[in-house]
Amino acid sequence: LTQMTPENERLITLGEMAAGLVHEFKNPLTSLKGFIELIKAGVPYEKEYFRVISDELQRMDALTTELLSLSKPSNASMDILELNQLCKDVALLFKHQLNQRQIHLNAHFDQVVYCLGNACQLKQVLINLIKNAMEAIEESGHITIELTKRTNTAVIHVTDTGVGIPEEKLSTIMEPFYTTKQTGTGLGLAVTRKIMTNHDGEISAVSTMNKGTTFTLKLPCHPPQSMEQIS
Ligand code: ADP
Ligand code: MG
Repeated sequence: LTQMTPENERLITLGEMAAGLVHEFKNPLTSLKGFIELIKAGVPYEKEYFRVISDELQRMDALTTELLSLSKPSNASMDILELNQLCKDVALLFKHQLNQRQIHLNAHFDQVVYCLGNACQLKQVLINLIKNAMEAIEESGHITIELTKRTNTAVIHVTDTGVGIPEEKLSTIMEPFYTTKQTGTGLGLAVTRKIMTNHDGEISAVSTMNKGTTFTLKLPCHPPQSMEQIS
């Protein structure tokens, strides 16, 4: 189990960010330049080129957006949110995509749990985790979202039956630019961790190779329960 607390969270310096961005942009820029040279030279080009170009541009766009959200201090407004509804909304976003693949989404969130948070950011957290879960499942599998309440803490588990994460990588996956994917940005979990920190929350992961992974999110409930209610 790897606990991602603010104490051991690595802050990205401007230098690291610039270095990361240059590194990530170098490849797509080189290939875009190559395509343009081909077109200029009048070489017959295939439709496929445009899909690749479009994918790469999209990835560069995602990189800049995610990087901006990592470097900017967050001044997101906080509202009282009902997490049950928020989880349901996010699950609905994936309904169509999941139907198209052989992935079953199980949702256990009947409990009404309130927290103080920014709806857009917390949705982004769940979206990032579900996206990763989908990408970890090769053919068919299950994704489970579970919301429970433990005393004053809202606990959300996102579990997948995917490829798993090697034990020694669990402490690395949330670092910016760490990715094992061909078209990954490696920023999804870094953004996710930052959002959780902004919410006085925590994120942790446990995984078994070839079995699957569970990400656990913890958020302070709102309003805090009184001591009588806890005991
Ligand atoms: P990206 O998805 O762009 O690679 P992330 O920050 O979202 O970036 O994830 C970083 C890496 O962590 C992934 O490339 C993958 O290796 C690993 N990872 C994250 N979530 C999972 C998961 N549910 N199952 C397996 N590996 C995962
Ligand atoms: Mg991701």
